[in-house]
Amino acid sequence: MSNESTTRGVPIATRFRQLIAGRKSSIGYFDRHNRKNKTRRSIVLCTCLALVGGILAFLLIASPGLAQKPKPQQPLLVATRVIPPFVFSNKGELSGFSIDLWRSIATQIGVESKFIEYSSVPELISAIKDSKANLGIAAISITAEREQNFDFSLPIFAGGLQIMVRKLESKSSAFPNILQLFFSTGLLQVIGIAIVLIVLVAHIVWLSERNHTEGMISQSYFPGIFKACWWASATLATQADEMPKGALGRLIAVVWMFIGVLFVAYFTASVTTSLTVQQLQGDIRSIDDLPGKVVATTAGSTAATYLREHHISVSEVPKIEEAYNALQTKEADAVVFDAPVLLYYAANEGKGKVQIVGTILREESYGIILPNNSPYRKPINQALLNLRENGTYQSLYDKWFSAKES
Ligand code: GLU
Repeated sequence: MSNESTTRGVPIATRFRQLIAGRKSSIGYFDRHNRKNKTRRSIVLCTCLALVGGILAFLLIASPGLAQKPKPQQPLLVATRVIPPFVFSNKGELSGFSIDLWRSIATQIGVESKFIEYSSVPELISAIKDSKANLGIAAISITAEREQNFDFSLPIFAGGLQIMVRKLESKSSAFPNILQLFFSTGLLQVIGIAIVLIVLVAHIVWLSERNHTEGMISQSYFPGIFKACWWASATLATQADEMPKGALGRLIAVVWMFIGVLFVAYFTASVTTSLTVQQLQGDIRSIDDLPGKVVATTAGSTAATYLREHHISVSEVPKIEEAYNALQTKEADAVVFDAPVLLYYAANEGKGKVQIVGTILREESYGIILPNNSPYRKPINQALLNLRENGTYQSLYDKWFSAKES
């Protein structure tokens, strides 16, 4: 028994020791194993963090928009310029269609903004270029040239260029207009055609009449042709006092008399129409009447470029009001500028003083100008479409245009 317990005791003690030793060794194994695992996990974690960091850094560099996006507390800087009715400034207090539209867009996209005023469109555009402003809104036309270096929103307003002149004074004398009419290309063309026909008919009549015994025309060429020309002119003016005696001469005389009646009718109608139109609209009615005239517009505007392209002498002023003044003081003969701006002036301060003539010279649309790849373009476009769809755009349009034009 004791032997057994001894023999049993030894292995028990040994096994216990072994067990203890084994546990110790297994604890050591797990410890080592755990430490190795931890190190591996931290390496994986570090690699993942480095990867995520790298991707973020790449995105920030690849998308300048993201890098540019100001922190929420920084208001967006919005460049603008006074151009009624799109932008008015009353002691620094801005209003107008474009101002209201921007405020609605800013509310839609949830950004704070601050307006900065510039005195011309070229100045406004260079402020965007030099990152002094995040975007620009006024009456800025979307052009191919500007699109090369900037981004534009969807169009915010459709317009185009048009001509404005002084309203004719009712007491103005018709005499200068008649002189102008006589030197107009249309009338000179009609006179030229009449002279050619007179000479042609005179020759036919002289040929048929010269051998006739009782003929009205002399046989020799120069006196004969002179007389025939006189007869053809008088008949054209329905004032003939003599008639050819030969058969061919008479046939020609009948046809020529009818041509004379038509000619007098056409001539009278054209002169009357031209004088009436001149009386109502003055001598500037379209772009063709502008060469040789002084035309005022704003500096660096699309209208100035258009006039130069058409070789029309242009007087560029910073503010559109200065162009209106130049027209009133007769320093300029016409103003060529954006039709919505001119129409607004003609219906308000310029009422009774100016008139818009001719059709739109070139269609243009206004847009919000942004630096290339601006992160604001998409939210702005989204907001613009929302404002059009929910009727806000239309109510702003009615507020600034329909109501005031009456
Ligand atoms: N639509 C014209 C432009 O963009 C306006 C110029 C101006 O505001 O003077 O050139």
